[in-house]
Amino acid sequence: MSIDPCPDTTRAPALDRAGGRLRVLLVEDEAGDRGYFSEVLRARGYDVTACDTGESAWRSFREDPPDVVLLDLMLPGMDGVELCRRMRRHPIGRDPVVLAVTAREEPEALGEILGAGADDFLRKPASPELLDVRLEIAERTVRERADRRAAEIGLESASRELEQLFRNLPDVFFSVDVTSDRLIQVSPSASDLLGHTPEELLAEPTLWRALILPGEGDRDPWQAVREGRMGERFTHEYAVPGPGGTSKWARASVSVERDPLTGHLRADGFLVDITEEHRARLELAERNEDLAALYRVSELTLTSATLEAAHERILEEVARTMEVPVVLVEHLDRARDRLVVIAARGLEGDLADLPEIPLHQTPSGVAVRTGKPVVVPDARKHGERMHASLLALRPRMWASFPLSAGGAVSGTLTLVHDVPRHPGDRWSRLGASLASTLSAFLERLEASEALRESEARHRALAAQLQQANQELESFAYSVSHDLRAPLRTMQGFAHALVQNFGEDLSTEGRDYVRRIIDSGRQSERLITDLLGYSRLSFEKLEVKPVELSTVVEQALQQVEADLLESGARVDVPKKLPVLLGSHTILVQVLANLLSNAVKFVPPERQPRVRIRAEERGERIRVWVEDNGIGIPEGQERRIFRVFERLGEGGDRPGTGIGLAIVRRGMERIQGSCGVERVPDGGSAFWIESLKERRKTRRPWAARGR
Ligand code: ADP
Repeated sequence: MSIDPCPDTTRAPALDRAGGRLRVLLVEDEAGDRGYFSEVLRARGYDVTACDTGESAWRSFREDPPDVVLLDLMLPGMDGVELCRRMRRHPIGRDPVVLAVTAREEPEALGEILGAGADDFLRKPASPELLDVRLEIAERTVRERADRRAAEIGLESASRELEQLFRNLPDVFFSVDVTSDRLIQVSPSASDLLGHTPEELLAEPTLWRALILPGEGDRDPWQAVREGRMGERFTHEYAVPGPGGTSKWARASVSVERDPLTGHLRADGFLVDITEEHRARLELAERNEDLAALYRVSELTLTSATLEAAHERILEEVARTMEVPVVLVEHLDRARDRLVVIAARGLEGDLADLPEIPLHQTPSGVAVRTGKPVVVPDARKHGERMHASLLALRPRMWASFPLSAGGAVSGTLTLVHDVPRHPGDRWSRLGASLASTLSAFLERLEASEALRESEARHRALAAQLQQANQELESFAYSVSHDLRAPLRTMQGFAHALVQNFGEDLSTEGRDYVRRIIDSGRQSERLITDLLGYSRLSFEKLEVKPVELSTVVEQALQQVEADLLESGARVDVPKKLPVLLGSHTILVQVLANLLSNAVKFVPPERQPRVRIRAEERGERIRVWVEDNGIGIPEGQERRIFRVFERLGEGGDRPGTGIGLAIVRRGMERIQGSCGVERVPDGGSAFWIESLKERRKTRRPWAARGR
């Protein structure tokens, strides 16, 4: 017996290969019957291969497998039963429909052929009707087998794909028979996440129970799975215990169904590796916690005005956040190379009792020198030197974070624990952040203290200056006042000398006396002006609406003599506004301006003065324009200072105080003054003050209610 060495099980059924025509292998040694069968078969549209021996049929069968074999049992050589047996053993031999044809009647013979694998039989001689029916049945069977075969091929490839998928699944798939508490299936990726192969897990129940949804305390996730509703998904996150205490994190997603075959509860689920996600979540939560602590401390630094007020709350918060009993704020005394504790929490006794600590007597000194945080997990083990006064704190862990001010280390934020500790990176980072928050606070405090000090200094200076000014002014006033009496006496005697002894004096002598009288007059003018100027500083005055026209009128009266003497022409508008000021001051100011306007005019020119007023927003500006010698460029501000007289007008009588009085007078009524040069000679002096503020009338008052 020969069997194909490499059977092609995926081969498509013969029916398909013949383009939909049924292929029939006809095995019949009798020529008459062969002819008859061939004819009937071809008439049905079949593709017929006819053989007259078992051997030739067997060859043909293997070369081109048929859909149906019409097989005569009585053959010379290999008989039909043997051929049928061989065909059935052949890998593709299970598919063809074998229809045995025999003249034998005995049941044994039929039993033998059916036992060899024939599907049906037909007795010779076969009537065409019966043959037709049998072929109809064979045809249907062929089609059914072809369909089944195609379905099998599809199923096989689907299950191969599924197998592949299962093997390459990144997540762990598992099935548990919940009723019998047995792991049925788990995918190969279990090795990565759970650290054990599927074989190990399937073999050892305690292993999978410890790794797939293990219980925590008295909480058993499997209980929840069991109690869940059918088909509902249950999720659970847990730490997968790993070697050496390391753990991965898994998210399980399980649903339960009742197995229709066994009636058992069956849980199918996935385990996803969420180690990274879990770590990131944890880190985020820690960050948030740290930020919240920093925020609380920052807020405390903002709401506390002094270190004393703040230190208790801030240090309390620092102690809580950093989980240490003792917190110190040390200030660096650079000159003496010492640290002074300026605020403390968890310290027994008075702060003032703590001596200043030499830099090398605690690890804080290193933080100060290097500008970097220093963490000593166990001071005793590291043989750190501690100042005697600090031993009461029983320092074991010591951490110092430098505080800085203006870029230089100004002290430390020091955390002390009486048990050894190995704080991690997160702790150190938070400590450094707290120190920088505290630095900013201390710096701000220092700055605002410095500001307060300088403000106080300025206020004291201003008060002193005002005092000195007042003293000076009252001194000037009394000197001027006191000078007046002897001056008058001098003038009186000079006049008496001329009147009583003028005859006796020579011309030169009389000239001397005249000069004494002139100088006396000038001195008197000077004193009068100085007194007027000084008085402007002391005099109490009330700012109120003043009629400008009255002011102008009185000022003109004051300078009437000058106007007459100079022959000046003065233009004054008929209507002038009301402005805010002091009547007396405004009269004096305008009189001074008018007197100058007619004084500083070339002798050959008739002085012409024009007074006008204009509104400028909230203010009123009053102009006094002349056709005089003008003000040289760049001198506009200078002339308003005391005793400043310009060269060109210097030969005219005057004291250099008139315009100073104008300026100070206007300042006292919150006004201002200035001068502009007129293009074709002359000057335009101006003074400015606030407009009278009209009372706004209420609308109903206007309607006469
Ligand atoms: P005084 O008139 O007593 O000299 P002022 O203080 O009134 O003093 O004036 C200061 C100087 O400003 C004057 O000496 C003069 O040089 C200049 N000056 C003042 N008013 C005028 C003006 N209308 N035209 C030209 N020069 C003026």
